[in-house]
Amino acid sequence: MSEILNVPEIFGSDVFNEATMKQRLPEHIYKGWKNCIATGVQLPLDVANEIAEAMKIWATEKGATHYTHWFQPMTGITAEKHDSFIAPTGDGRVIMEFSGKELVRGEPDASSFPSGGLRATFEARGYTAWDPTSCAFVKDGSLYIPTCFCSYTGESLDKKTPLLRSMDEVSREAVRILRLFGDSETKRVIACVGAEQEYFLLPKDLYAQREDLRLTGRTLFGAQPPKGQELDDHYFGTIRTRVSGFMQDLDEQLWRLGVLSKTKHNEGAPCQHELAPIYTDANTACDDNQLIMAIMKKCAAKHNLVCLLHEKPFAGVNGSGKHNNWSLSTDSGKNLFSPGKTPSQNARFLVFLAAFIAGVDEYQDFLRCTVASAGNDHRLGASEAPPAIVSVYLGDELSAIIRSIIDGTNYTEPEKSMLRIGVDVLPAIPRDTTDRNRTSPLAFTGNKFELRMLGSSQSIAGPNIALNTIMAEELGKFADVLEKAEDFDAALQTLVCQTLTEHSRIIFGGNGYSEEWKAEAAKRGLSNLPSTAEALPAYVSQKNIDLVTRHGIFTEQEFRARYAIHLDAYNKIVNIEARTMVDMALHQILPAALRYTRDLCDTVGTKKNLGAACRAESALIQDLSGHTDALYDAVSALKFALQAAPGTPEDAASYCHEVVIPGMNILRREADALETLTDKAYWPYPTYSDLLFY
Ligand code: ADP
Ligand code: MG
Repeated sequence: MSEILNVPEIFGSDVFNEATMKQRLPEHIYKGWKNCIATGVQLPLDVANEIAEAMKIWATEKGATHYTHWFQPMTGITAEKHDSFIAPTGDGRVIMEFSGKELVRGEPDASSFPSGGLRATFEARGYTAWDPTSCAFVKDGSLYIPTCFCSYTGESLDKKTPLLRSMDEVSREAVRILRLFGDSETKRVIACVGAEQEYFLLPKDLYAQREDLRLTGRTLFGAQPPKGQELDDHYFGTIRTRVSGFMQDLDEQLWRLGVLSKTKHNEGAPCQHELAPIYTDANTACDDNQLIMAIMKKCAAKHNLVCLLHEKPFAGVNGSGKHNNWSLSTDSGKNLFSPGKTPSQNARFLVFLAAFIAGVDEYQDFLRCTVASAGNDHRLGASEAPPAIVSVYLGDELSAIIRSIIDGTNYTEPEKSMLRIGVDVLPAIPRDTTDRNRTSPLAFTGNKFELRMLGSSQSIAGPNIALNTIMAEELGKFADVLEKAEDFDAALQTLVCQTLTEHSRIIFGGNGYSEEWKAEAAKRGLSNLPSTAEALPAYVSQKNIDLVTRHGIFTEQEFRARYAIHLDAYNKIVNIEARTMVDMALHQILPAALRYTRDLCDTVGTKKNLGAACRAESALIQDLSGHTDALYDAVSALKFALQAAPGTPEDAASYCHEVVIPGMNILRREADALETLTDKAYWPYPTYSDLLFY
């Protein structure tokens, strides 16, 4: 019988967390660390040395032999290089050593991480620096130290540094607003994030038989199975035994690492599942999401499964996304997006709400670009969950309140004077739990905003950097006005009313998938960037560069480097997919179809000798021959297109979008037609039925 898991006991047991630090560090060292976190100053070397020593003892007790600076380069995943603790004593033996210097700073040979031109090869080495706000942990025999990754000249080469900067910015500007509302206590406002993660699980043996899955993480071919997800019999359905074994194992590992894994269920598509943790600060949420993705993959392998994090592993069934729930909270735990009960709380809520709406409206394109990727193009703007047009859904009640503020009418009693912000109590805004608009890319869900545009494989850093920064920008502008106001209530009234009026075009409660919305959005002047090739150039518009540099989130160079990396990644992914298709078409699909055709021809020959009819065979041969010819033409055209790709990354991206991808689509159509005609015994890889209904 298996042992009963004592969750409170194991939770966080592999993390050098605050409780462990308090227990294992001398008091003045523990306080020194706390002080550094509170004030943001550098850790003094003596403090670092003591922490390193305590960490090493703790980690070696847990079986760690190595340590690694764990960082998040601009690839969107994490990187690590492991060093053992051993130090020679000179007499042929070793001791385990780990110094404060090794804790706070590392120098990975980082020349092959993308830098977007920030780092010439002669100064290829970057350095990593411990982020003391993230806890170290033990995994797979190593002590993991979460770090920032920078070039020697100080440019950030990672996703964590700008995220931390954006959290500081939004905190600074939000505190300014809170002061105006008489809050003298709050020192820090924290961007909070809960990221729901969708994924697919497949049997390992089936996965291994498909080159497209192995090389690109998605199926590039595959005819539609007789049954898809139309019966909705998978969503929230009973979890199969093999999968629930995986999920239990996953939860245990995550809990040990202090990840607040909370909810698990089946998703819409067959074999699709979701995991949601309890929200934490954005920095931890980002680290934790990286851990969740990494451990999902590892844990799946242990259960003879493969975890697919691709945004669209299968055509014709739901893709996978990530829902990024975001809010702002004071250091004492007050949620600033909670509508309150008093006039002042309500006024504060409306200020934060108005700032959010203004920010999203002004920087729609920036938000859109942070989720642009080759994989996510199959979801956004491709008549699948959420559209590529950014809009904000507020629910009926809140929309009506906003309308009444804009129109100057009272929300509940139209004949009474208008609602005076900061003086009147708002009508209660019920928490809207049932009637959520699933087609909205960005929905207010009672006390937080849910951004649903993220792709399942993406780091959540980018979109949260954008949310924090645009919020900092608008709150800062508000504070500038309100700090100078002589009559605070009057100024507040004008500001909120004006802001909502100016930006109401971004509010939309209808069906985001409909053609009417596309037309309506165009009329409203909202940006519609359906593909990565179209979206990315907007990323580095002057307006967005000004925003991120003004707030010190990125230098212009750092920002442009990210643009270059995203473009490059897009081009590379499309090219790899296209080359994989060519390879599979020529080496697997065409030969299979030809073998089957040949055998049919042999049958026809034999049958004719016997004087038997062979109408079916002849018709099949005709059909097969038509599609094999078309397949051959398509593959030749795609090969040619790949050779002709133009020079600059921008041109190459447009070319991928306009020439390569359409070519891939034609090739797929022919291959899938052949699949439906060919005897399964001849088909070279598992079909959609095999994969989705294993
Ligand atoms: P749903 O009904 O969509 O499942 P939940 O309330 O269960 O919504 O939350 C989904 C995610 O949002 C979870 O990760 C949860 O921890 C997170 N969440 C809840 N409240 C907040 C908040 N104030 N800020 C950020 N994330 C939150
Ligand atoms: Mg959700």
